Amino acid sequence: PGHGEVVLQVQDVRKTFGGLVAVNDVSFEIRAGEIMGLIGPNGAGKSTTFNLITGVLAASGGTVRLQGETISGLRSRQIARRGIARSFQHVKMIPDMTVLENVALGAHLRGQAGALRAMLRLDRREEQRLLALAAQQLRRVGMADQMHELAGNLAMGPQRLLEIARALCADPTLLLLDEPAAGLRYKEKQALAAVLRQLRGEGMSILLVEHDMDLVMQVCDRMVVMEFGTRLMEGTPAEVQASPAVRAAYLGT
Ligand code: ADP
Ligand code: MG
Repeated sequence: PGHGEVVLQVQDVRKTFGGLVAVNDVSFEIRAGEIMGLIGPNGAGKSTTFNLITGVLAASGGTVRLQGETISGLRSRQIARRGIARSFQHVKMIPDMTVLENVALGAHLRGQAGALRAMLRLDRREEQRLLALAAQQLRRVGMADQMHELAGNLAMGPQRLLEIARALCADPTLLLLDEPAAGLRYKEKQALAAVLRQLRGEGMSILLVEHDMDLVMQVCDRMVVMEFGTRLMEGTPAEVQASPAVRAAYLGT
């Protein structure tokens, strides 16, 4: 997509769980080369919105479009194939395998029906292709020096970067991250912020669902603030910070 072109359009998206309206007709757009933040207090509906975009949950109403094509109603695997990659809040990896092998395996398993079948079918040339792809994506997130370490020895920050490298192997148009800064130390957050800015510079679009205000304020171009399932406001970090409504809802001041 060209710079500034609308990549994701979330329009009046709604999700109810029994009588609870978890996401109440929320709309926003993400453009190419933009980092959009999605913030709000616990229970605001951020993760549910994330899951509606990735197709993990079926919406009760509304439409999600990726580059103009409706993706709401598709299964999560189909949505992934169309160009939306996500990270998981709890990193799943095989601790006895190297960082490189973990990323290559993740790239291989993406879109495969069964993990075991996938492993059994891996031929040598395909293995080389996946390892090269994994190495390329690890360099992109600044992990060139850690590729051959055991994944189980990684600190939390590098684990999150590994997870992002794995998502990048799918060559996504849009990257969705759910609380990537959770539990990270200051320096790790700075490294993560640098990677996100770098990806944006390459034209990647990113939706950052995040509790950590520091990171959101630092890297996002715009942000949507949710409260009780609704969109409270949308604006630049400076606009959001200056909003009395947001201060009342989120910052508790
Ligand atoms: P956030 O990520 O902003 O903390 P969530 O999207 O996880 O918020 O949750 C929004 C609301 O929906 C909360 O009240 C939560 O309890 C409720 N909720 C989330 N998932 C489910 C579910 N699977 N079943 C029932 N209620 C849910
Ligand atoms: Mg959440």
